[in-house]
Amino acid sequence: MAQCVYCGAETQLHVNECPICVRCSDELDAGRQPAQTRASAEPICIETRPELTPNQRPLIEMQLRLSLNAAREEYRKAKRELQRTISEIPSGSQSPDGQTWIHAAGTTERHASRLYREAVKRFYDFVLGDKVPERFNPLAQKKDTR
Ligand SMILES: [Zn+2]
Repeated sequence: MAQCVYCGAETQLHVNECPICVRCSDELDAGRQPAQTRASAEPICIETRPELTPNQRPLIEMQLRLSLNAAREEYRKAKRELQRTISEIPSGSQSPDGQTWIHAAGTTERHASRLYREAVKRFYDFVLGDKVPERFNPLAQKKDTR
């Protein structure tokens, strides 16, 4: 008999081709992560859940698009700010203040750039790859805080 991928109990039930026991399946259906989840349960089953209803899809896509736009705007702003900072400090200047400003603006730009790339990835992962963002997946959220 197969073993439940979550708790290891013997089971004949399969969901998304993963063996899973009735108790853990009930937990998932209720939007909870089974209490006994073993590390090896990820990501084979968890990523395929939750099933989206037809209404959820456009809603999630819209939200991802909004955060993508916001992240892009933040990134452009940070980039302009970095360029402005650099242009305002005379080239070759070794003034400590100038170096600090450039460093700070550079850090902000890199941070914004990372957030932007992540937003792009989340958007396309969802639209093209059908991967539900963790924010909309209660199981993945719990996985992170464990
Ligand atoms: Zn189980």
